[in-house]
Amino acid sequence: MGKTIETDVVIIGAGPAGAGASFFLSKYGIRHIIIDKARFPRDKVCGDACSGKTALVINRANEEWLSEILNTPAEYTPSWGIKFVAPNGKSLDIPFSPHRTPETKAPGFTVTRMVFDNFLFQKINSTYNTVYENATVSNITRATDKVSVDVTTADGSEVRINAPVIIGADGDKSIVRKTFVNSGENPKAYAVGLRAYYKGVTGMHPDNFIELHFLPEVLPGYLWIFPLPNGMANVGVGLLSEIVRDKKINLREQMLHAIKTNPDISPRFANATLVDKIQGWGLPLAMDRQPLSGDRYILCGDAASLVDPFSGEGIGNALYSGMLAAMAIKEIAPERDYSSSILRKAYDDVVYKRLGDEFRISATLQRLSKYPWLFNYVVNKAYKSQSLRDTISCMFTDMDLREQLSKPSFYLKILFNK
Ligand SMILES: Cc1cc2nc3c(=O)[nH]c(=O)nc-3n(C[C@H](O)[C@H](O)[C@H](O)COP(=O)(O)OP(=O)(O)OC[C@H]3O[C@@H](n4cnc5c(N)ncnc54)[C@H](O)[C@@H]3O)c2cc1C
Repeated sequence: MGKTIETDVVIIGAGPAGAGASFFLSKYGIRHIIIDKARFPRDKVCGDACSGKTALVINRANEEWLSEILNTPAEYTPSWGIKFVAPNGKSLDIPFSPHRTPETKAPGFTVTRMVFDNFLFQKINSTYNTVYENATVSNITRATDKVSVDVTTADGSEVRINAPVIIGADGDKSIVRKTFVNSGENPKAYAVGLRAYYKGVTGMHPDNFIELHFLPEVLPGYLWIFPLPNGMANVGVGLLSEIVRDKKINLREQMLHAIKTNPDISPRFANATLVDKIQGWGLPLAMDRQPLSGDRYILCGDAASLVDPFSGEGIGNALYSGMLAAMAIKEIAPERDYSSSILRKAYDDVVYKRLGDEFRISATLQRLSKYPWLFNYVVNKAYKSQSLRDTISCMFTDMDLREQLSKPSFYLKILFNK
């Protein structure tokens, strides 16, 4: 082994979770090293839709960054709402900001991960940080006073990095998780998704609504069409891996079949061309509470299974959990006690306090969305009722309202038109 480097925190992974942790560690003046096996810019299979939570963390990291994003229309498409298409084909347009003024900023945006993750990567502050890109982690070991990470750097040299604590922000196949957590993947809390880039899809909403098509053949998952700049669209399909396996569903065939034959979808692809090869990746879902940290390690983003079980959103939760990991480390740093009980209080409890309700509601919605009749029913009712549409619209910003969606009383109320 070559040289040994001592630092305060080592982060594995420089995607949204790792970049988010780094932004806030730098804010707090905490030295750290980030290691990523890729060289940036790099791709990540994703739907490319960023929600208000992404915007919130970016804004907290630096108030100018969001304007930079929204002022670059060649790369970012502002999104003002969501279109739900029920299994019976009926659709419902739900604006995120029903009372918007010219000053209102778009609540969400779409951007390829190639562009967005590179944007985040370039914002990592080198005053407190050293980045090893294109570097391979060969071993992670834990002693009573430190974690050691052995790395082969891009130039082939071997480095050992010692730190009192490690952040695993290395995605779905996390090596940090594999090293410290002994549980395998839970098929009930795991989805698989495919992504395809198309050029020339027509019929997009003028305000770039993202579209979720709850086709009967992929419930409780959905097919999505998300507009991107330059006439491009991110098109994909995602479904629980347990269902894919049990029903032997070929997701690729399902997606291409819908694009070719679905009466609402296929005309929009009449002149569209597939631009890249169709690629798949996993989504580890936040179905139930599970440990997110242990002695001397913290997991963030996909490594911690923090993808929203209903929407599949994981970018915002990755950035958010990265921020919370940095806050926990700042709180603990004076005592340097990175034992599991301290980290559980400073990190796990805070993550679940802030995001736990959202996860619980989304898990219930995911379970409910396997019933096509319920979906059709709500969309039919909302189609006819402006007040119900307004209620659903507010649910995107108001968690208390969103909770109603997961309760039987909500459906009884709309049954009796109350
Ligand atoms: C098909 C699909 C569609 C999706 N659509 C959306 C969507 O529209 N909106 C949304 O918000 N979320 C979506 N998600 C989820 C989202 O992509 C993830 O939740 C998000 O990327 C998690 O960020 P992360 O930083 O935790 O992990 P990643 O983005 O996976 O980043 C992990 C980083 O760690 C690095 N790394 C991995 N292993 C190592 C190692 N051994 N050594 C060093 N570095 C390593 C990788 O190179 C990578 O840069 C989708 C996911 C899929 C699969």
